[in-house]
Amino acid sequence: MKFNSDFTMTINGKSVTTTSKITVINPANEEIVGYAPDCSRELLDSAVGAAHSAFPSWSVVPFTARQNLLHQMASALEANVGPLSRLLTAEQGKTLSDAAMEIGGAAYWLRETAKMTLPETVNNDSSAHRSVTRHVPLGVVGAIAPWNYPIGLAAFKLASALLAGNTVVLKPSPFTPLTTLKLGELMQTVLPEGVLNVISGSDELGPWMTSHPGFAKISFTGSTATGRKVMAGAAATLKHLTLELGGNDAAIVLPDVDIQTVAKCIFWASFGNSGQICLASKRIYIHKDIYGPMKQEIVNYAKTIKMGNGTDPDVQLGPIQNRPQYERVLDLIRDAQDNGYKFLMGGMPTAQKGYFIPLTIIDNPPEHSRIVQEEQFGPVLPLIEFDNIEDAIARANATDYGLGATVWSADAAAALAVGQRLQAGTVWINEALGLSPFITFAGHKQSGLGTESGREGLLAYTVPQTIAVRQNAGTWQGVPKS
Ligand code: NAD
Repeated sequence: MKFNSDFTMTINGKSVTTTSKITVINPANEEIVGYAPDCSRELLDSAVGAAHSAFPSWSVVPFTARQNLLHQMASALEANVGPLSRLLTAEQGKTLSDAAMEIGGAAYWLRETAKMTLPETVNNDSSAHRSVTRHVPLGVVGAIAPWNYPIGLAAFKLASALLAGNTVVLKPSPFTPLTTLKLGELMQTVLPEGVLNVISGSDELGPWMTSHPGFAKISFTGSTATGRKVMAGAAATLKHLTLELGGNDAAIVLPDVDIQTVAKCIFWASFGNSGQICLASKRIYIHKDIYGPMKQEIVNYAKTIKMGNGTDPDVQLGPIQNRPQYERVLDLIRDAQDNGYKFLMGGMPTAQKGYFIPLTIIDNPPEHSRIVQEEQFGPVLPLIEFDNIEDAIARANATDYGLGATVWSADAAAALAVGQRLQAGTVWINEALGLSPFITFAGHKQSGLGTESGREGLLAYTVPQTIAVRQNAGTWQGVPKS
């Protein structure tokens, strides 16, 4: 496909633009990548209106036809991996190979979700009376995505929402709208008009969506602080909600691990995408017997990693995606410095173009420190020594977050016994970050509400409907005898 040279929204199957624009910056060099439309309230109404008009016919398209269309969406992404990845790298900062993996992963999510079906429960089945509970679509879904995986996380939502028979208005982050706008343009040739609308805008657009009476559901991925606002905004019209929010995932490393192997695992679980992964390991509890050699091995490995502009094929990690997040991470580093915590490597960046923060590892900061208690969402990692496993479990659980956790040991059964006591939506033993379209993903505590992906994630885009059929009204017991 040949893309338009400018970036447009997709409303009712057509490209739509605005005179007012938002500027999108390449975080690797702070140059302008492009300008995205700044959606007005009127255009939001148009997008929601188009999705409403498309809903009655889309919701009754045979399920197998919707499955086929998901495959066609995947094919369209796969056929455009090159240009989409280059654009994603330019606006997000990740490496070209990570960007290609994200686009490919989105296609994979669409294809695999398309293999799922919606269950029907027969409650009662006789010649006189039959009752069946099925799962019907909700209506128009508002999908709001963050900037760390703009296409991957949008695909989680689109795959389930569309397969279930909903129509969608998708809004990317104003920091990374461009690839998503191109996704919308691409899908104009695949989906019927109005089924998928893609809009972009500045900070007011999200709140306008959450309070808009036209949405039956908001599916939101982003920070816990914004998640609270989304919930409040959605309350007035009692919208269904899925909230996939922040985390402060603990990793617990038991003393019997192979230090060299697990050091690399811990590194990538923590620093992948420069730490900008909701499920990244964000505080590492290491048993005292191996604390010294393990920290040394993590540092040695970290020193071999190249950070830079994601277009350079030798680069393994890119910058922080945007200036406010860059400032937030610097603030955590400054706090650690001010408190005299020991840095094993990294620290404040030296002046240069781009939002680069050197890989930073902090040696055993106190449990109450901000770098242990807060979600850093950047390449700064606290390593923490523990002596007693009960204490490590208690510290891992002592947080309002509950997204993920990992446990590492040569004895998987021993690690599992620890993992089962952790309060998190996903617990991995001797692995990390393994999401799948077949596996339901849910945050515990203030890391989220509801589910995404897997059978339960698909059901979250439906509402149960029971239909009871009596063959003969004369047999109904509901009418008093006299
Ligand atoms: P964010 O909460 O700032 O923004 C997310 C999205 O919400 C953006 O599209 C933004 O424009 C929009 N938004 C902002 N204010 C809004 C409001 N008042 N109402 C409605 N929408 C609003 O998050 P971010 O900084 O883009 O992403 C980083 C955060 O996302 C981290 O905390 C990370 O852990 C979390 N995250 C969670 C998951 C998950 O699946 N649990 C996945 C990725 C990222």
